[in-house]
Amino acid sequence: MPADNRTIFLADCESFYASVEKAANPALAHKPVVVAGDSERRSGLILAACPLAKARGIATAGRLGDALGKCPDLVIVKPRMQLYIDVSLQITKIYETYSDLVEPYSIDEQFIDVTGTLHLFGDARMTAHKIQQHILAVTGVYTRFGISDCKVLAKLACDNYAKKNESGIYVLEREGLGDSLWQLPIGRMFMVGNRMANHFLRMGIHTMGDLARMPLQELKRKLRARFGRNADVQAEVCWRIANGIDDSPVITGKHAGEKSVGHMMTLPREYAARDEIKVIILELCELVGRRCRSIDRLGRTLSLGCYGAGFKRSTGFNRQMTLPYSTYVTNDLYQYALQLFDRYWDGSPVRRVGLSLSGFQEDGQYQLILDDHRERLGALEAATDSLKDKYGDDIIIRAASKSKAGQAVDRASKLGGHYR
Ligand SMILES: [Mg+2]
Repeated sequence: MPADNRTIFLADCESFYASVEKAANPALAHKPVVVAGDSERRSGLILAACPLAKARGIATAGRLGDALGKCPDLVIVKPRMQLYIDVSLQITKIYETYSDLVEPYSIDEQFIDVTGTLHLFGDARMTAHKIQQHILAVTGVYTRFGISDCKVLAKLACDNYAKKNESGIYVLEREGLGDSLWQLPIGRMFMVGNRMANHFLRMGIHTMGDLARMPLQELKRKLRARFGRNADVQAEVCWRIANGIDDSPVITGKHAGEKSVGHMMTLPREYAARDEIKVIILELCELVGRRCRSIDRLGRTLSLGCYGAGFKRSTGFNRQMTLPYSTYVTNDLYQYALQLFDRYWDGSPVRRVGLSLSGFQEDGQYQLILDDHRERLGALEAATDSLKDKYGDDIIIRAASKSKAGQAVDRASKLGGHYR
């Protein structure tokens, strides 16, 4: 691998939630098992299906009712998020005995840079096999390894090959991309969803190779014609992925410093209507969530303060709660902030609102993305964050902020405003 001599693994846990449940309960070993969010309802979504259930035609993100139709003896387990988080941390600890460069990518996927330690264990394939056996013996979870010289190719190697072959290990060589990766349909590229894939097909881009070989300027022109000027970013991201251009380092999630992230807003007038105050709370959740996402910190303690303008008699409250899981997703923060608000607000007018998130997970930082729904929200928010970083805060503003109660539009125009 001449361009870059790193050796990067993307390790993925097979059917993670279901595997953890099966390991915890040996009676389930030979049964088809799914973990479903809303196990009482037939419309509940399947969060994970074990390989036996998948062999019966059951897919992740499918409906429980359909799954029971295909497989009446299906065992349905309720999700136990804290358990999955604990096992995820345990797995990270094991990876860290093979390299100190371990970067969580999601609850069940991690990047490991073994460049500096590989010689201790043999070649890349042998090292991956050793880790795979180690994780299986200790946790009962089967892991698959995509291997290449950068993160993006390691991820593509895992998704497209390691998950499908016998050994669960695949080395994707940069020299041979024309015969391997570039032959695959464009929809198999990560970051390309169904809708994007359809756009590419209509542009005559059928394979990853079609995308990789197209000059970047031409791709930008084509995407711009469909999506406008802002499509340049997307064009470049996709083009780089297809070409395996990625020099981003594997970074451990350990950040020292910040113990909490908070924002306070003073409103232009007193707000007395619940709907108006809700908009402000949403904006604060967006600010706090965005900051936490940028420093990779998930918190479990949320506090909300609402204060009146009265100088003689102070009104309002400042209360906190422990969330059921660590998060940095705006919509999660908003959901619980509203609970606090509805519990403690006595109806008196509000002039200042503050929100903060603390209780950060100390032990490595996890994009603990707790189900597919949140995963999608998380990705969406990360995308809007990067657009805002690039083009300014007012590029994307939640529709609610356009109401007269919203502060975001006004604030975005105050560069260096004291809310940042
Ligand atoms: Mg997985």
